[in-house]
Amino acid sequence: MTRISVKAGQRVFLDRLAKMSGQNVQQCFQCGICSGSCPMLENMDTHPRKIIRMAQFGMIEELEQANTFWICASCHACNVMCPRGVDLPRLMEALRLMTLRKNQNKVEPSRLPGEMIKEYPQIAMVSGFRKLTG
Ligand code: SF4
Ligand code: SF4
Repeated sequence: MTRISVKAGQRVFLDRLAKMSGQNVQQCFQCGICSGSCPMLENMDTHPRKIIRMAQFGMIEELEQANTFWICASCHACNVMCPRGVDLPRLMEALRLMTLRKNQNKVEPSRLPGEMIKEYPQIAMVSGFRKLTG
């Protein structure tokens, strides 16, 4: 049996992640079905399965650098397929919130090019801001 131990700082992070997402990442047994069913995989730099693995090991820096939870469309394809009942979209949402609560916006509205603001549908802008800014 492989035992995973984490340091104190990682434990705080993992406890917060568990509280915010309501998920126990240690439930995951790394089958990879979530990655195989994800329609956004091509745009992610790290597969959803690997995100859970990083969380299991408390790899905070690597998790924060991944674009995966910003790209996740919360489509729920992964969690309806997961044999361990892990709700990955909730985990992704918690990772986004944990970043945004540090006042680190993924997108700075004031830096968006004027042309983009004119061209993009208003509803897309609003939903983008809701997801990507604190
Ligand atoms: S489908 Fe579930 S058990 Fe399988 S790797 Fe993804 S989260 Fe883990
Ligand atoms: S909820 Fe996110 S991670 Fe899961 S399949 Fe959809 S886009 Fe991929």
